Amino acid sequence: PISAAPRMRNKADGRHDVLMLVNDVSEWRRLERMRSDFVANVSHELKTPIAAIRGFAETLLDGDVDEEAREKFLRTIYEESLRMGNLVSDLLELSKLEASDSHVDPVAVDLYEVLVRAVDRVRPVANEKEITIELPREQRLHVWAEPDLLLQVFLNLLTNAIHYSPPKSRVCVTWDVLVDRVKVHVKDNGIGIPKESLPRVFERFYRVHKDRSRASGGTGLGLAIVKHIVTALGGEVGVESEEGKGSDFWFTLSRLDARP
Ligand code: ADP
Repeated sequence: PISAAPRMRNKADGRHDVLMLVNDVSEWRRLERMRSDFVANVSHELKTPIAAIRGFAETLLDGDVDEEAREKFLRTIYEESLRMGNLVSDLLELSKLEASDSHVDPVAVDLYEVLVRAVDRVRPVANEKEITIELPREQRLHVWAEPDLLLQVFLNLLTNAIHYSPPKSRVCVTWDVLVDRVKVHVKDNGIGIPKESLPRVFERFYRVHKDRSRASGGTGLGLAIVKHIVTALGGEVGVESEEGKGSDFWFTLSRLDARP
């Protein structure tokens, strides 16, 4: 970030350059702090499941555990290892996105087709809670996107909508066709998000409902990934929500047949 090239040309410019250098240094410090915060967060996120796995495995190895406790400990070990697996996959996904420097080559994608693929994948989890997923009426719609990345966006939003909703509720996907864009909504009638947390939910590792996120194997990275992908595709993301009522997560993408 700090440019090595000499910039000073004359006195007036010199003062300007000093200011720019100060700006560069504070930007560099900010990025450095973000990087070390991120490493600290990842370490913390990994430490918790590792401690649980080690603790329960030690107790089992010590013997003297009845059948019921054995089953419980093994289940916890299994669940914690799933959580670690989720975390590693999400971290890899983020690092892949960053390595491509947010550069993706969008192609024409059938929005409905990708949505159906995502719904098929989350159906078993929805069925467990008897949650109904409603799909948009209008099906023929093409957007500029990258199919696997768009699939990931739908998977993350649908998974959240299911996890943070009560059994037997509805998750509803709709879209508004605008002049040049499509605005896609994933709505639920779940627990919602308090107003003060709304600006932070797309941050890495920010969780509103810590216990619930943990119980569902959440990593705190799902929405950060959504934001990264949608931004790389040239769109925007947002959320409207009311505590106890439900949430409406939305994102926009460019329409294929949009007027220039
Ligand atoms: P997580 O893996 O914890 O779900 P996300 O990045 O996907 O992480 O979401 C961040 C946090 O935002 C979650 O921990 C949860 O508290 C909140 N959240 C996300 N989606 C919803 C939703 N549909 N309803 C209520 N809260 C949500």
